[in-house]
Amino acid sequence: MRDPLFVNGAVVRAPERLVLRGGRWTLIDIAVRYGVWHHPRLGPVLIDTGYTKRITEGRERSVAMKLYNAILRPRLIKDASPIECLRRCGIMPEDITYIVVTHFHADHIAALCDFPKARFLADGAAYARLSAMTFRQQLHNGFFPDLLPKNFHERLISIDTRPSVTLPYGLGEGYDLFADGSCLAVPLPGHALGHLGLLWPSVSPPLLYATDTQWMLRAINEDRAPSGPARLIYSDRAAAEASIEKVRQFAGRGGRVVLCHEPSDPNARHEGRP
Ligand SMILES: [Zn+2]
Repeated sequence: MRDPLFVNGAVVRAPERLVLRGGRWTLIDIAVRYGVWHHPRLGPVLIDTGYTKRITEGRERSVAMKLYNAILRPRLIKDASPIECLRRCGIMPEDITYIVVTHFHADHIAALCDFPKARFLADGAAYARLSAMTFRQQLHNGFFPDLLPKNFHERLISIDTRPSVTLPYGLGEGYDLFADGSCLAVPLPGHALGHLGLLWPSVSPPLLYATDTQWMLRAINEDRAPSGPARLIYSDRAAAEASIEKVRQFAGRGGRVVLCHEPSDPNARHEGRP
């Protein structure tokens, strides 16, 4: 089985201390990744989408979106959007039949509209809760419904309709997304409503995409989760701490952990290129 590949599509500059307790005040580039994985039977599957110009450009953006962009100021990496990266590999937008949506923050859903045939695997209960919120509550939860395709609801497959499984490595209960054991959804609550990770148990070493459980692996492995403003992002702090512990244990057993926002490594040749 092939490993999933994670591509850095944008960066957000922030002091290291914001994402690592006791870290430096030096500005670092926090990555914003999405994943591409070739399912042996279903072909290319996307994992989130990263940012796109829908966040950073255009008069038609809502005032809330413009404000969000002005605060975070993400810089898109040239030619690194999912559509551009996939095209270079001969994969057209229509070829993507599934996209796993790990949660509904803007940096994960901004390109869902680019894939007209994709079905979306996500936490349906979280989507229902977010959809029923007032505008203010949605903003507080970092949810911009205008980023979703109009027919998102019809194309959504809630992960709890997939077979339930007891996950290996003490990761608790989860779901077998393609009913073949290849890729398992790992609920990692705390960061955002419906936040989940993905486990590929058969690649070597087993790989856990822990999404936004933390911004830096060091914060997990060295028990240095930030205590400042970044902590306010958690939707449920106690749950977030339990999720961090699960991921730490998995890493301690020799598993490989990938995070969406691990600061980019300028020497990593695959960054920005699948
Ligand atoms: Zn997030």
